[in-house]
Amino acid sequence: MTTFAELGLAPDIVRALDELGYKTPTPIQERVIPLALAGGDILGAAQTGTGKTAAFALPLIQRLLPYANTSTSPAKHPIRALILTPTRELAIQVEESIKAYCKYVPLRSLVVYGGVNINTQIPILKTGVEILVATPGRLLDHVQNRTLSLNQVNTLVLDEADRMLDMGFMPDLKRIVALLPAKRVNMMFSATFPEEIRRLADTILDHPAFVEVARNTTAVTVKQVVHPVHHERKRQLLIHLIKHRNLEQVLVFTATKIGCNRLANDLNKAGIHADAIHGDKSQQERMKALEAFKNGAIRVLVATDVAARGLDIEALPYVVNYDLPHNPEDYVHRIGRTGRAGASGCAISLVAESENRYLDDIEKLIGSAIDVEIVPGFEPGAADVPLYQAREAGPRTPRPTRAAPVALPDRAQPATAPRPAAAAPGRRGTCQVAALFRPPAAAQPAPAPPAPPGDSENSA
Ligand code: AMP
Repeated sequence: MTTFAELGLAPDIVRALDELGYKTPTPIQERVIPLALAGGDILGAAQTGTGKTAAFALPLIQRLLPYANTSTSPAKHPIRALILTPTRELAIQVEESIKAYCKYVPLRSLVVYGGVNINTQIPILKTGVEILVATPGRLLDHVQNRTLSLNQVNTLVLDEADRMLDMGFMPDLKRIVALLPAKRVNMMFSATFPEEIRRLADTILDHPAFVEVARNTTAVTVKQVVHPVHHERKRQLLIHLIKHRNLEQVLVFTATKIGCNRLANDLNKAGIHADAIHGDKSQQERMKALEAFKNGAIRVLVATDVAARGLDIEALPYVVNYDLPHNPEDYVHRIGRTGRAGASGCAISLVAESENRYLDDIEKLIGSAIDVEIVPGFEPGAADVPLYQAREAGPRTPRPTRAAPVALPDRAQPATAPRPAAAAPGRRGTCQVAALFRPPAAAQPAPAPPAPPGDSENSA
């Protein structure tokens, strides 16, 4: 197996990686690092969770080593590498990673993003930083204010380019690229490749090497399951699953900000400590909720797609799609929060009849059918759902039009309860993983007492 040292990284970088527990490169790192060290442009098809941050950051740092210095003169620390991300959360996380990788290297990094007072960023920019991580809008604010200069940038990274496109950053990106020196190394990463992203790649990248890791497929370590349910019973089902399967550290996605708030409230009423993050929350509120989620002070974080973009929570065990995304690529992004860098995870989707078409689109995109498990007590009525049947994972097959629903066992069922014939624990479709992240014991909520299936938020 290749090591980071064998990929050509300097001992000071390898030492920092070792301390972070990075023993061997992930597949994308193994492929991108040598290419980027050689100075070629790269187009990477990789989703979050594959280790793509280190894939672009490590060679970038290594190539800046000749410029590393401890001088206090700002002139000795011009911006040499620019990393653009769609969201502030992702920007923060990328920069945190870079700081960690640079632990033994005198290169400075900074993150700038909108939603916070620009004046707090200016003094640090003035002292000089070699590596700048930024969201496009705030970067342009600084350019306009002349509080930074991009004329010595020799490396450009566009992270999650498809999301930047979705968020309307294309004009900003074009303006920024026009401000950069023509001679530079470019790396662009995207989980998906719609036509506009290909065109962007054509204009920015110079004969790029195309590196593809599990494009449009979900991390193999993520166990995926669909629970069909009547849409009015989703809340009860979620509460039931969390309590009866003792799910800890659950990231739940909703379609709307209102739904996000409402669900977090309902979970709290049901005795499940939860918080919500979405676009209407201030940056400070989002960071606070994320921190509480990471350290185990809250059990469930309810999020919308935009707010959750780029969240990196070590070995997040559970992602729940409370609402299926209308855009199938969002499903891939969402479940990229779990099963990260080799850790196992579980992605649970609560699917009402009206969402079947989205499920079809998702399965088409990921190229396989997702296992279906009806949770006893939450069977969708015959009128609600065209029927499901347990399907073998593998190449996608057309959704059956009519077949009897198959109720798979709920692991939390009392041992004495009559089980269907095929009720062996651990049966395909049951999504149960050990909590991979252990919050401090004191912060853990008390386990909920067993309750019959169907317990609702009103009863708690
Ligand atoms: P990313 O896809 O860049 O968001 O990385 C996902 C997670 O994997 C982050 O928590 C990284 O710290 C972690 N990671 C990245 N590369 C490695 C590696 N080679 N070994 C172990 N963990 C890694």
